[in-house]
Amino acid sequence: MTGRDRLPEFCEAALPVPLDKTFTYSVPAGLAGRVTPGCRVRVPLAARTVTGIVLRTHSESPEHAVRPIGKLLDREPALSADLIDLGRWISRYYCTPVGEVFKTMLPLAGETRQTRVVALTEAGSRVLDEALVMDPAEQEVLTSLMRKPLTLPYLAGKYEHGRDAIKRLQRRGFVEIKEVVEERDPTMARGAALRVELASIDSVPEESQAGDRWLLEYLRQHPGIHDLRALAVQRSDVVAVARRLARAGAVRIEVAEDRPASSVSADRHELSEDQRGALESIRERLAAKRFQTFLLHGVTGSGKTEVYLRATEEALALGRSVLLLMPEIALTPASAEQFFGWFGDRVAVLHSGLGTRQRSDQWRRVRDGKARVVLGTRSAVFAPLRDLGLVIVDEEHDSSYKQAEAPRYNGRDVAIVRGRSSGAVVLVGSATPGLETCFNARSGKYAQLTMPRRIMERPLPAVRIVDMRREFSETGRNLLFSRELSIAVRDCLSRGEQAMILLNRRGFSTFVLCRSCGHRIECGNCSVTLTYHRRDKCLLCHFCEHSEPVPQRCPACGRKYLHFHGSGSERVEAELRKNFPEARIARLDRDTVQTRNSYETILGAFRDGERNLLVGTQMIAKGHDIPNVTLVCVVDADVGLGLPDFRAAERTFQLLTQVAGRAGRGEKPGQVLVQTTNPEHYAIELAGKQDYEAFYERETRFRKAMWYPPYTSIATILVRSSDLSEALAMGGALGKHLTPTPEGLRVVGPASAPKAKLRTEYRFQFLVRSVNRTSLAALLAKARRFAERQNWPATALIIDVDPVDFL
Ligand code: ADP
Ligand code: ZN
Repeated sequence: MTGRDRLPEFCEAALPVPLDKTFTYSVPAGLAGRVTPGCRVRVPLAARTVTGIVLRTHSESPEHAVRPIGKLLDREPALSADLIDLGRWISRYYCTPVGEVFKTMLPLAGETRQTRVVALTEAGSRVLDEALVMDPAEQEVLTSLMRKPLTLPYLAGKYEHGRDAIKRLQRRGFVEIKEVVEERDPTMARGAALRVELASIDSVPEESQAGDRWLLEYLRQHPGIHDLRALAVQRSDVVAVARRLARAGAVRIEVAEDRPASSVSADRHELSEDQRGALESIRERLAAKRFQTFLLHGVTGSGKTEVYLRATEEALALGRSVLLLMPEIALTPASAEQFFGWFGDRVAVLHSGLGTRQRSDQWRRVRDGKARVVLGTRSAVFAPLRDLGLVIVDEEHDSSYKQAEAPRYNGRDVAIVRGRSSGAVVLVGSATPGLETCFNARSGKYAQLTMPRRIMERPLPAVRIVDMRREFSETGRNLLFSRELSIAVRDCLSRGEQAMILLNRRGFSTFVLCRSCGHRIECGNCSVTLTYHRRDKCLLCHFCEHSEPVPQRCPACGRKYLHFHGSGSERVEAELRKNFPEARIARLDRDTVQTRNSYETILGAFRDGERNLLVGTQMIAKGHDIPNVTLVCVVDADVGLGLPDFRAAERTFQLLTQVAGRAGRGEKPGQVLVQTTNPEHYAIELAGKQDYEAFYERETRFRKAMWYPPYTSIATILVRSSDLSEALAMGGALGKHLTPTPEGLRVVGPASAPKAKLRTEYRFQFLVRSVNRTSLAALLAKARRFAERQNWPATALIIDVDPVDFL
C-alpha cells in the first residue's frame, strides 16, 4: 500500500463546547475509511460523551495520546465540504468557537435519539443466581433485566421507586447505565404519515406472504411513491406489510411531510417593464454561473415576489438549486403556497416552527436532492443544497436575520458568503434596503436593480403627518386618536374597506408610576419598568418575562396614588372597541400570537375580510398583500426614536415606509396617517414622502461624521456577572488590557450597557469601531484570549460582530 492509499487514522472534530479549538481522536479499525469530513461522531470528552462533527481526517500522529471515536452516526456526511468551510468562516468572522457554530448548523436533535440503557453486570447476574435477599424494588429491576437491557425511562416508569433502586444497584456495581444514541428509524414513524415506493424492480423476498406479494405487485403496476394511508383503504394490514418489506430491503419507506395542500397553481403575470428589466440582468448572470450580488430595490407593491419566482424557475431550468430566505414572520403558509403552486414537490420549507422530526425530514429531502428549492428563515441558510445557483434574501433589512445568541451571525451576510463560494447569484430585496446594503450597491460591490413603480401604475399611498402637539393645544385633551384619525377610520369602515392601526409597543400601559412619591415599578431582575397587561392582569417584564400581580398600593410609600402611563397595542384595541363598537377588530402582537398558527389564523381572518380592523405592533407591517386595505394609521411614530441605538432613525424610517406600503395595494388607492410629536424629525418627514434617496443622503452624512457603519465595521464586547462589583472589575480590567488602542480603531467603554441589568446580571459594554475588518478581528481575539487567561466563565464575555440590537 502506498502512503496515499493509507486510510486516515485520526480525525479532527468540532464539539459543542464553548472553546475555540477542535479535538483529535483516533479512528478505530472497525470504522477505518468510513469516517469522513462532515460525518457526526460520538466521542468521549472528559467524563462525558458528546456528539461532534468531523472536520478533517489525517494520519499525522498527534503529540498527545488520543482516545478513539465511540460511534459513527452517519453513513453519508451530514455536512458537505462547502458547508464546513462556511462554518469555519462564521467562526472566524463572528469570533465564535467552532463547536458552537457547527452545533447550530445541524438539525442534530431531530436526527438522533438519545436514551440511557440499563444492563445487568456480571456481578448483577451472580446476585440474581444466588438469590441473595434484597429490597423488593431492586429485586424486580434486576429480574426484568435478565433477558435483555432496558431503557432507564421505561424502568423508572414501570416500577415504583424504580429510579432510586437503579441508582443503588448502579452504585453497588450490579447494573451499568450506558448512554445510547441512535439514528431515527423512519420505519418506526406512525403509519398514517408514511409513504412507500419500490426499492428495486426485481426484489421479491423469499417465502413472501400474501400481503407482501400484493404490495409489491401494486407498486410495480403503479410506479412512484404512495401514501400508506391511501393504500390502507384497499388492504388494512398494509402498514405492517410495508414495514416488513422495508426491513427486507424490497421497498423504501419515508415519512411524508406536512405541507399545505397546494390549491394555488402557477399564477403567472404578464411582467411589468421594471420586472422584465430586473429579470433580464439576473438571467444573464445565472447563465454565466458567476457569483454576483444584486440589490433588488423595489417599492412596496412593485411585484418583487414575481421576480423571485421567475428567477427560481430559471435557476432550476439550469439544473441548479435555490435558497430563499424570509424573515421569521413573513414566512407564512400563504407565502409558501405560491412557491408550492409553482414548484410543487421540489420545495422544502425550513423554519423554527417545525417540530424536530418534521425539520429533520425536510432536511433529509434536501440532502437527498429531492427538494431543490428551500424556503426558510435564518437558519435555512445552512440547508444542505447541492449545486446552489440562486440565493434570495427577501426583506433583507429585517433585523430578524441576525441571531441573538451565539453564533451571532446575520443570515443575509452568511447567505452572500455561501453564494460566493457556490458561484451563485445572490438577490437581496427590499423596499427599504439597509443603509449598509445600499452603500454596497452604490460603491459597485453589489449590482443594483430598481423597481420604482407599483404594479399596474398604482400610486403609492398619500401620507399625512398629524402633529399631536397641535391636536393637544386645539382640543385641550391628550387622546390616543386625533380627530382626523377617527374620521378616517369611520369613513374607511363605512365604505366596506379595511384598515390597519400600528402602535409598535405591546401591553396596555408602558409603566406604573406613584403620583405621591414618584416611584416607578421596575423588574427585580432587569433595569427596566414593568409593563401593565390588562388581559393577563399582571405587570410584565419585556426582557425576562417576569410577571407579578398589579399592586393596589405603591410598594415604596404604601399610598394609593398609582398611575398607569403610556399606551401599548392592547390599549389601542380597547379604545377602538369603545369608539367603533360596530368594527370587527383583531390584534396582532406577541401577546396574541403565541404560536405560528395563531399568527396565520388572525391574519387569515383579516385577509378574508372576516375582520375589518387590524391593530398591532411591527408584525402587521411585514410583507402582507391585502388589496382591500385602504387605510393605515400609525398611532405614535415616535416610539423607537428615542432608543439608544444609532439605527433608531433608520428603523423608524423603515417601519413607517413598510407599514404605509400596506395601503392601496389593490385597485382602490390608499391613505396613511402618521401621528407624531416630532413632525420635523427627518426620519418621519422623509418616510411621509416615501423618499428613500433623501433619507439615505441624510443618514449617511450622520454615520460618516459619527464613525458608524457603513463607514466603519463595529462590534460590541459585553461583560456580565451577577455580582455588580465583579462585573465592574472585569470591565475595568478588560478596558486596561485593550488600551492603548491601535490606530484606525476606537474603543468606547466600559460603560453601562443599554440593558444595564438583565436577568439578574450586571452588564458593561464596549463599543468597538474600526476602519477595517482585520484590525477589528485582531482586537476581538485579543479580548477573548484575555478572558480565557483570566478564567472568566464562558458566559461572562459576549462578543457581537455587526450588532443589530444593542444588548
Ligand atoms: P412587493 O413584495 O414588491 O411589495 P408583491 O410581490 O407582493 O409586491 O406584489 C404585489 C401584488 O402585485 C401582488 O398581488 C402580485 O400578485 C401582483 N403582481 C405582481 N406582478 C404582477 C404583474 N406583472 N402583473 C399584475 N400583477 C402583479
Ligand atoms: Zn426582567
